[in-house]
This record gives sequence, structure tokens and C-alpha cells, in this order.
Amino acid sequence: MKLYNTLTHTRDEFITHEPGKVNMYTCGPTVYHFAHIGNLRSYIMEDVLEKYLRYSGYDVKRVMNITDVGHLSSDADTGEDKMLKGAKREKKTVMEIAKFYTDAFFADCDKLNIKTPDVVEPATNCIPEFITMVQGLLDKGYAYIAEGNVYFDTSKLEEYYVFNKQEADDLAVGVREGVEEDTAKRNKTDFVLWFTKSKFEDQELKWDSPWGIGYPGWHIECSAISLKHLGEYCDLHCGGIDNAFPHHTNEIAQSEAYVGHPWCKHWFHVLHLNTNTGKMSKSSGEFLTVSLLEEKGYNPLVYRLFCLQSHYRKSLVFSWEGMDSTKTAYNKLIAKIAALDLNSTDAVDTEQYDALHSRFTDAMDNDINTALAITAVYDVLKAKTNDATKVALIRDFDKVLSLGLLEEAAKAAAAAKAAKAAAANMEFVITCETPDVDEVFKAEVEKLIQARADAKKNKDYAGADAIRDQLTGMGVTLKDAKNGVSWVKG
Ligand code: AMP
Ligand code: ZN
Repeated sequence: MKLYNTLTHTRDEFITHEPGKVNMYTCGPTVYHFAHIGNLRSYIMEDVLEKYLRYSGYDVKRVMNITDVGHLSSDADTGEDKMLKGAKREKKTVMEIAKFYTDAFFADCDKLNIKTPDVVEPATNCIPEFITMVQGLLDKGYAYIAEGNVYFDTSKLEEYYVFNKQEADDLAVGVREGVEEDTAKRNKTDFVLWFTKSKFEDQELKWDSPWGIGYPGWHIECSAISLKHLGEYCDLHCGGIDNAFPHHTNEIAQSEAYVGHPWCKHWFHVLHLNTNTGKMSKSSGEFLTVSLLEEKGYNPLVYRLFCLQSHYRKSLVFSWEGMDSTKTAYNKLIAKIAALDLNSTDAVDTEQYDALHSRFTDAMDNDINTALAITAVYDVLKAKTNDATKVALIRDFDKVLSLGLLEEAAKAAAAAKAAKAAAANMEFVITCETPDVDEVFKAEVEKLIQARADAKKNKDYAGADAIRDQLTGMGVTLKDAKNGVSWVKG
């Protein structure tokens, strides 16, 4: 399987430290607000990657942190703690905010068929691990204390800009517009491992540490949580592209300094979902959520398909027109699957199965080309083979795509069956819309209307027309309705 690696800038053959086993780490959400559908694009693509690794036979252990402390409003260690900002906005405690938005995040994931990672660890659960790691970095000479905070000393590294060597100057913290320089830092790129109360007096969550009462920096959490659950070798680390710098760059710096050897070989970054006015961001407060999509009448799985139709390494522009055409495509796809005999017990045509199956795996083995993998589903529907083979293939592909293809098709087939049965059983209602009609005349008209309906049912259209003419001759005008006929006299 070939997978693009941000570290090498090439599509590498995916190789793990221990054959057959994948230690996978995902940077989790900062739970101070709802996840926006941009965040969820990253989690959808990471979910597909995880599921495809399992599908390919790997034994995957996936770990995700929940950032509930330490992520400041600027990634360059300045500004307010995002959690505190959320708590102030909603007049709640940080822990209440964290619980509410963590639950909301996993509820959104459920709706998008995103599997929960094997381990989900809130940062506030791991304070002792962070302290041990920060102390280890101090002991090894990779960290220093200045103005009450503990900093990582990037000048101690042979190489700091691991992802984007040529852009070192552009990326340097302190030269970016709007980012004030922290005068306690020895080097522009140094970052905080542990803050003390000297920096933020109103920080709500604080812990005792050898360096004073304080709280951890953002980057240390992912390194320490990965070490705790995956050991010293991580095979695959994921996140949105904004995480590459400074977050992942700093994670690599501190993790490798701490363990003393290369730490994670493969870095998977998902490009951003943008609106036509720019990047979708939580901090701006204006963003789209899964609930909003639902309110507007979209099944969340339509958004999943919207994401899968494009490659994870390309920016994706969100538009309502795009969602509408994806909704049409999804409904048509489901209708086509619903038209198959979903419960066929015929034998699967193995030759056709293998040929169609390899189209799917070829696409996915080629850097998770989900758009081509979706085309493979259409190829199955068009193929000249029996329904049992088609259903078996779609079931298999959907283990990875998770578009609810068979479940939604079964629902659509059941709904169509129920509608047909209801139509067949519907009572034929005759309504007279003229008041005070003579009862004998009324009985005669209704008998003829019923006879016309019976003629139509028996496809005797000439007979039905003749009866209508007879009624017209009697001064009766008919109006056909869905469940019967109404008539007027005169
Ligand atoms: P956060 O909750 O801000 O820590 O972000 C959660 C995840 O969403 C991270 O992996 C980010 O890199 C990713 N992310 C943030 N904004 C976007 C976006 N517009 N499109 C795709 N992924 C994003
Ligand atoms: Zn992280």
C-alpha cells in the first residue's frame, strides 16, 4: 500500500515497525466548541484510513487525545487558553464545557459513521505523564526554565523543521504576522512544555509540578499520550494539515529528544475544507456543523460521500450546490442498490467478484484514492453479474467507505414496498361536491364512478372513457384524486 508521507514528501510504501501491526495516533479535537465540518473532514478521512488498514489485515491500535487544557488561542503559545475562552463564553466551568463538547463530538462522529478510536484519552487525565516527560527533557538538557515556564530548546536539535525545510524562515514563530514574541524564549522556535501561574493568573485548571503550580503546553499532550499507549514507536500519526506546524513539528522535536531515536515514520495530513471565503475555523465562531446539515435536510452520510468524492490531499471547497448534487448522487446510488435482490441466495460469481474487488483495492492502495473507490461501487452496479455478487461486493467495500449503502438501501426497499402495499389497500373514496343532490341520482352516479374505476384497474381504458362520457352526458364532471374521485353536478 502506497501512502503519501509528509515527512518524505513522497508516496511511500507503508511499512510498520512491527510487521502486521499499526500503532496509529490521531490528534483529537479541542473541546471548547462544536466540531465544524472541516474538522470532521479530517476525521472522516482518518477513519477511512484506519478501516482500510484493518481491511488489509493489519492489527491496528488507534489512540486519540481530547484537548481539554493547554491549547492557547494562538498556536504560538500566546493568547488565552481556548477551554477557558469557551467556559467564559458559556458561563460554565472548563470541565462542564469539556464534557459537553466531547459528547457532542462523538455524537457527530456516530452520525458520520466514524468509528471511535480504541483509546480516547483527555489531556487532563495524564498530568503525571506530562510532568515525567518534561522532567526527562530537562534532565537530558533539551529544556530550560525561564520566567516560571519550562521551554523546549530547539537549538539543541540537529534539525527542527522536519516537514518543510525550505520554509524555515516563513514558518518561524515570532515573524508571523499578529504573533507577539515571547521574550522568555531563547530561540524564536522554542515552545512551552509547562506554564506556571506566572503567565496566566486566571487559568481555571492548574496542577502542582516541580516548577510551580501550572498547566501543560499543548504539544506535550500528544507526545506523552502516544508514548503511554503506543510505546516508543508510533507507525502513523494523523491530523489536519494545520497541525504539521507547529504542533507536529514540536511533537517530533520533544518525542525524539525524549526517547533518543526516530519516533514516528509516517505522517498523514488531511488538507482543509474551505468555504469560498477561506478556511473554516472554530475560533472565528462562524462555521458549519453536522446539526446544521441535518436541519437543512441532509443525511450526514451525504457529507461523508461529499468528502470521499475528493482526495484527502486536495483542499476541498464546501458549497450548498455541491451538497445538493451529492445528495442527488447518494439517493440515486441507494435507489440502484435497493433495486437489487438484497437477500439473494444465489452463488457468488467468484471470477467477477475478484475482478471488481481489485478495482477497489487498487484505488485504496494508491494513497487512499476514495474517489476511485466510489467509482468501483458504480462499476459493480453496472457489471454483468448476478445480484448476489453485487451485494457481496458492496457489503465488502462499505466496511471501509461506511456510507450505510446496504442499510439505507434496505430502508429504501422497505419504504417502497410499504408505499406500494398502502396504494393497493387504499380505500377508493367518492366525494360529491354539490350540495343537496337527489339521493337516487347520487347512487346512480356513484355506481358508474365505481364501474369506471374497476375498468381502469382492469386496464379497460376504452370502457372507462365510455363511462366518463356517459357521466358527462348526465351533467356530471369528474375530478380524479390520488385515493378516489370527486364529482360535481351541473
Ligand atoms: P481542533 O479541534 O482545532 O484541535 O482541530 C481538530 C482537527 O481538525 C485537527 O486535526 C485539525 O488539523 C483539523 N482541522 C481544523 N480545521 C480544519 C479544516 N478547515 N479542514 C480540515 N481539517 C481541519
Ligand atoms: Zn496532537
